[in-house]
Amino acid sequence: MAFYQTPPELGNTYAGDDVLRRYLRNTLSGDVLGRVDAELTEIGELAGGELYRESLVTYRDEPRLEQWDAWGHRVDAIELTPLWRKAQRIAAEKGVVATAYEKKSGALSRVHQFSLVYLVEPSWHVYSCPLAMTDGAAKTLLVSKNQALIERALPRLTSRDPETAWTSGQWMTERTGGSDVAISETIARPVPGESGVFTLHGTKWFSSATTSQMALTLGRPEGNPPGGPGLALFYVEVRKADGTMNNIAVNRLKDKLGSRMLPTAELTLDGARAIAVIGDKDGIKNITPMLNITRTWNSVCAVAGMRRGLALAKDYARRRVAFGAPLSEKPLHVDTLAAMEAEYEGAFLLAFRAVELLGKEECGELTEAEAALLRLLTPIVKLVTAKQGVAIASECLEAFGGAGYIEDTGLPRLLRDAQVLPIWEGTTNVLSLDLLRVLAKGGNIQPIVREVHACVGGADASLREPAEAAVRAVEHAGAWLLRTLESGGPSAVEAGARRLALTLGRALELALLVREATRSKPFGDDAKPAAAARRFCRNGVDLVLDESIAHDARTLFDGQ
Ligand SMILES: Cc1cc2nc3c(=O)[nH]c(=O)nc-3n(C[C@H](O)[C@H](O)[C@H](O)COP(=O)(O)OP(=O)(O)OC[C@H]3O[C@@H](n4cnc5c(N)ncnc54)[C@H](O)[C@@H]3O)c2cc1C
Repeated sequence: MAFYQTPPELGNTYAGDDVLRRYLRNTLSGDVLGRVDAELTEIGELAGGELYRESLVTYRDEPRLEQWDAWGHRVDAIELTPLWRKAQRIAAEKGVVATAYEKKSGALSRVHQFSLVYLVEPSWHVYSCPLAMTDGAAKTLLVSKNQALIERALPRLTSRDPETAWTSGQWMTERTGGSDVAISETIARPVPGESGVFTLHGTKWFSSATTSQMALTLGRPEGNPPGGPGLALFYVEVRKADGTMNNIAVNRLKDKLGSRMLPTAELTLDGARAIAVIGDKDGIKNITPMLNITRTWNSVCAVAGMRRGLALAKDYARRRVAFGAPLSEKPLHVDTLAAMEAEYEGAFLLAFRAVELLGKEECGELTEAEAALLRLLTPIVKLVTAKQGVAIASECLEAFGGAGYIEDTGLPRLLRDAQVLPIWEGTTNVLSLDLLRVLAKGGNIQPIVREVHACVGGADASLREPAEAAVRAVEHAGAWLLRTLESGGPSAVEAGARRLALTLGRALELALLVREATRSKPFGDDAKPAAAARRFCRNGVDLVLDESIAHDARTLFDGQ
């Protein structure tokens, strides 16, 4: 008999997830847990069953753009893949956005919602992208207090009815850039006689989920000065009431490395009718709630991808025999996966800590200290988890050997889809600079230092090494910041911003692992989080370098 390898299997993604289940038990009250448990079981069944199987066989499917009809009319219709059409229905019915707005679990509603996201995300080929922007648009409209727009769009954005549910786009990036949006070229012309109504003229260079019914976007009202504050935030419906495009042309779909079921388009706005959301300036400031939400989705999706890769790699290790034994019996393979598991568990706890704070903020339960912590964490959590997501996805593919490189195993997609996470919603560097901006606006890293201390307090002797390493790393980061500002000035701090952000994020991940082990002890299941804390500590936490190393950067960049 010839040998055929049995493939890895994925069961119910909730039932098999010890990390999520432990976290929820430690975080939710008994009655909230009782209520969400059934929903998570259902979505876990779909994600590990029907959707997973379909995601494997449809990996080649892509959306298609039809620009013209048979009679020469410009139609710009995008046909989604069958998997995405199914995802659309499931997302609405399971309330993957709505849960956050119904607030049935109070301040923990975000934990409830993001548990759903986390369980399902890797099975629907990045359908979380339009949902993230939908959630972000709903939040931004609520914050804007624009009653007319709230009444029109919010019930649709948060609907559980697939027939009436809307999704939203977020059109910020232009050919001039996605990080430096202040130099955007889109012009907004007021429509005479209609207060607050404009037509938009310009090009949007990356617009994901172009099949959405609406978008929030930026444009510069005529006569406004150049620069960020001169841009305003606009609400645009993609189609007119008669179904034709709102003077928006879809020029082409991007040919991307990953997220290939996600239609990401280049658009020309040639007089698109738009409504100013809040006044006619400060658009970058006013779209911030959207970015905070999409960055949180990004972090949870990064963690979800890591979980998926590891779940498959561990299952495979038990099935794949090499050199006389399953890989799960080979000490070096086990050690390799253990290092990855520790990274994932730290990332999971950090992402969900940010989720908890977001939920409290939305229920008016955030203390001032927690608000300061959340401001620092929003950029840090996104950038740290995204980087871990790419590294873990890459290692997961290697854990399958050659099979990890072959498309119809479904594995290469994990790496390709992870690679976008550090790019969109703010690159690693741009978010590191965001952190510096928070610090420059009178913030300091003390909220993180305090959080680390709070997490490691109560740790027992077996956790002394990780607890001390977390504290040492944040204290080193703080000392570096003060010293560098004094000796090298702002440009020296800027050069080290990424290392600073990564160190703060990793130190907090480590501290949260220590806390998870400590609070799991009464339940008698602290062995795994404690082992994760000790291993994460050895993976390395403190990336801050002294200035002499940083000075070499110019030499290395210029060459010679
Ligand atoms: C699949 C996909 C979908 C997307 N969908 C959308 C969408 O729906 N809506 C939308 O608006 N955008 C979207 N984007 C665009 C995305 O948000 C931008 O590509 C991203 O913000 C980076 O902008 P950029 O491409 O202009 O890169 P740049 O801003 O040119 O950055 C290039 C490099 O320079 C670095 N850099 C930039 N400024 C600095 C600085 N001051 N200091 C140090 N380093 C710096 C960056 O970190 C990066 O490494 C999408 C992108 C992708 C890949």
